[in-house]
Amino acid sequence: MTGTAEQPSATGPAEVTLDEVVALCKRRGFIFQSSEIYGGLGSIYDYGHYGVLLKNNVKGEWWRTVVGERDDMVALDAAILMHPRTWEASGHLEGFTDPMVDCRTCKLRFRSDKLEDAACGRQPSKHPGETEECDLTEPRQFNLMFETFMGPVRDDAAKVYLRPETAQGIFVNFKNVLQFARKKPPFGIAQIGKAFRNEITPGNFIFRTREFEMMEIEFFVPPGEADAWHQRWMEDRMRWHTELGIRPDHLQLRKHGPDELSHYSSATSDVEYLFPMGWSELEGIANRGDYDLSRHAEFSGEKLEYFDQEKGEAYVPHVIEPSLGVDRSLLAFIVDAYETEEVEGRKRTVLRLDPRLAPVKAAVLPLVSKAGMPEKAREIYEQVRRQVPAEYDEGGSIGRRYRRQDEIGTPWGITVDGQTMEDDTVTLRDRDSLEQVRVPADGLADRLAARLAEPWRSPKLD
Ligand code: ATP
Repeated sequence: MTGTAEQPSATGPAEVTLDEVVALCKRRGFIFQSSEIYGGLGSIYDYGHYGVLLKNNVKGEWWRTVVGERDDMVALDAAILMHPRTWEASGHLEGFTDPMVDCRTCKLRFRSDKLEDAACGRQPSKHPGETEECDLTEPRQFNLMFETFMGPVRDDAAKVYLRPETAQGIFVNFKNVLQFARKKPPFGIAQIGKAFRNEITPGNFIFRTREFEMMEIEFFVPPGEADAWHQRWMEDRMRWHTELGIRPDHLQLRKHGPDELSHYSSATSDVEYLFPMGWSELEGIANRGDYDLSRHAEFSGEKLEYFDQEKGEAYVPHVIEPSLGVDRSLLAFIVDAYETEEVEGRKRTVLRLDPRLAPVKAAVLPLVSKAGMPEKAREIYEQVRRQVPAEYDEGGSIGRRYRRQDEIGTPWGITVDGQTMEDDTVTLRDRDSLEQVRVPADGLADRLAARLAEPWRSPKLD
C-alpha cells in the first residue's frame, strides 16, 4: 500500500544564504560558537551531536575511498606538535605569511590582498580604505602560525608551533612508512588531523576558521609520472565530491595562474564550490615536485629517497597533494543539501544529504504515545539501530517530529501506528519524495541496510 500523506508544492527551490545555514546548524545542534557563554572566541567553532556524526561520516567516506578502496595508500596520524626545525625546512617560518594592514582609526587588522572581502570598522557597508576616516598602514607580513612553549621555560629555545597543515607530519615520516609499510612509489600517505592558522580575516562561518581539520594526501611518484598522477588525482577528487551528492554545476576546477603558485609548486588546481558567498576554494590539489622531501633531507641530514632496485638508482619522489578541509567540506555538503519547500501550506526545510553522510539514517516514531505504540516502536528501534544509525523520538506531534528529522537530513522515517498493532506493518517515509509505503516491520533493518548500500542520486539534480 502506498500513500502520500504530505504533498510538496511545485515551486522551485531558492539557493540558500549563509545565515540560513548558520541558523539551522545552531537550531539543530550541529555547530555552536566556541565559548559562547563568554561572548565567543573569534572564528572557532564547536560541533554538537549531529555535527559530530556528520563530520565523522565525511571523514569516514574519505578514509573509505582514499585508503580502504585502494592498495597504494596507507594511513598516518602524526602529532600536532613537531620539531621546530620542521617549519624551517618546510618554509613556513619564513613564508607562511599573509600581508596585513592595520587601520589606525578603527584599530582593526585586515589582509591587504583581501580588502574587498572585509568590512570597514566604522562603516561596515564600505571596505577598509574606502572612507575618508580610514587610515591604513603599509602592508606588513604576518606569520599565521600559532606559537606555544614546550617545557617549563618560556624562551625561544622552547618555542614550538601548532601545525598549520598536517602535510609535514607525513613528509617527516616518509622513511618510516617506506620501511614499515613495504611500499614503493607510486604510493600515498593519508592523514586527517587538526591544523591551526592565525588567520587575519577569518569568517564566513566554518569556511575559514583558526582551528580546523584537514584531510590530506601526499602521493609519492617517480618524477616522470608526476603530471599524469596530478591529472588523475584531480579527476578522482572531483568524482569524490559529486558521488557524495555535490551538484556538478556547483563544482569547478580552477588552475592557479603563475602569480598564485607557491614557490614549490609546478602546478596547483583548486576544486572550487559555489558557496553562498561565491566560488571559493574547497580543496587544493598541488604538484609539489621534490621540494618537501629534498628540504627535509637537507635540514635533517637523513636521506629521503627511494632506491629503485630494477634501475639500480635512487631518486627523490615527487609529490602530488590533494588537501581538503573537513569543515569546509561539511559546509559544502550542508549548503548543497539545504532546501526549503512548501508542504501543504507550511514551510519545510530539508537537508537532502546522501544517506551515507546523514547523521541519522532512520527515525522510529510512534504515532501517539499510547495504545502500546511506544513499546512497539522501541522494539523496532532496537532492531534497526543494530544495522543502521537510528533515533527514537516520541515527543510532540508527528508533523513536528518529521520536520525535525528533515532538518537533520534523516532519509527514512518509520512510523508505528494503530495498524502496526494489528498486522505488524509500519509506514516508511522517504525524506525526499515524502512518499509513505506500508512495509512489514520484520526485515526492516535488512531493508534499510540494503538501501544504504545502493547508489543515491540527489533529487536536486532532477
Ligand atoms: P585559502 O586560500 O582559502 O586561505 P589555502 O590555499 O591557504 O586556502 P591550503 O593551504 O591549500 O589552503 O589548505 C588546504 C585546504 O584546507 C583548503 O582547501 C581548505 O579546504 C582547508 N583550509 C585551509 N585554511 C582553512 C581555514 N582557515 N579554515 C578552514 N579550512 C581551511
